[in-house]
Amino acid sequence: MKQIAVLGSTGSVGLNALRIVRTHPSQFRIAALAARRSAEALYKQALEFRPSLVCLYDPAKARWLAGKLKPHGIRVVTGEEGLIAVSTLKSAGVVLFAVVGAVGLKPIFAAVRAGKAVAIANKEPLVMAGGLLMREAHKFKASVLPVDSEHSALWQCLQGHSTAAVKKLILTSSGGPFRKRRSGFRDILPREALKHPRWKMGPKISIDSATMMNKGLEIIEAVNLFGLPPEQVEVLIHPESIVHSMVEFVDGSHLAHLGVTDMRLPIQYALSYPERLVNHLPTLDLVRLNRLHFEKPNPRRFPCLELGYAASRAGGSMPAVLNAANEIAVASFLENEIRFTDIPRVIEKTMGRHRPVKNPPLEIVLEADAWARECAKEQIKKIKS
Ligand code: MG
Repeated sequence: MKQIAVLGSTGSVGLNALRIVRTHPSQFRIAALAARRSAEALYKQALEFRPSLVCLYDPAKARWLAGKLKPHGIRVVTGEEGLIAVSTLKSAGVVLFAVVGAVGLKPIFAAVRAGKAVAIANKEPLVMAGGLLMREAHKFKASVLPVDSEHSALWQCLQGHSTAAVKKLILTSSGGPFRKRRSGFRDILPREALKHPRWKMGPKISIDSATMMNKGLEIIEAVNLFGLPPEQVEVLIHPESIVHSMVEFVDGSHLAHLGVTDMRLPIQYALSYPERLVNHLPTLDLVRLNRLHFEKPNPRRFPCLELGYAASRAGGSMPAVLNAANEIAVASFLENEIRFTDIPRVIEKTMGRHRPVKNPPLEIVLEADAWARECAKEQIKKIKS
């Protein structure tokens, strides 16, 4: 029986993880849960799964929850220390991180230093501090299990192979809403960019998908996770989104991961690894699908891809700068302050002003993040004036 801690249990990844746990009661048990501010939802989850520890990040709401859960013998903690208590809980073997933003960073490092199997669903930790995270994981004999669908696919294709056998990692991308657009990127409005052909997602991720920065970040993530140089990571557009990524080996063989587009697949694999568990998800109908298409992305139309490569090549603190500048630029675009094509401009200018620190500790990563946010805001001011 695997004991699991879920950080971000009321978000979409967390809810899917709990659905998996619910359908495999003899394989998994919830040891701890954490959420940011959804007190009511967390309360219901705690009553259902009976963890020994629950964290609600918001302190006022945590007090309310502590009162409600006390009669059930469930301890409630709060704040960053609370998240760290959850991520290092002795009884938890696997710790699933699905908390958005920098708030999860310290708890992830704490879990790694406690030697846990650490499943990571959101990109920021592996982009901002991926190199450091992997070094620490090696040192403390922790394992890092990717949940991002492309990286889960690569990880599954790589099972049993050393990186020396790899020629290329091939990340697939749906191409986003502007895959077929040839011109007029300058005039794209937020509401057009928010319309994704395949998925309904939050605004930040939707814009990242439209600019293809999503893949730029995933290039960095792949480099950090698998320890290969950026030149060995390629991006291919695959509109059907059935091949979730593939590996080309030195002998010319390709291994690809195919499956339905459902987050439960990579989440379940991370939780059950190295086993595979029966589930009742819909399966692929390859005959009905009939055809799969692949094309090369156009780097002029999607400059964010090259920015991802550039940040990865520069290494050190640069990926954190790219990530922060992108967040600021996307927020500004959504507020109608800058144009769609200004997003890569703001990021490029911010990166151009940063001198990357090699092998930065976490504090330096966080400093670079804060600096990049200010610098990106200055670039935006210049564009607006
Ligand atoms: Mg992805």
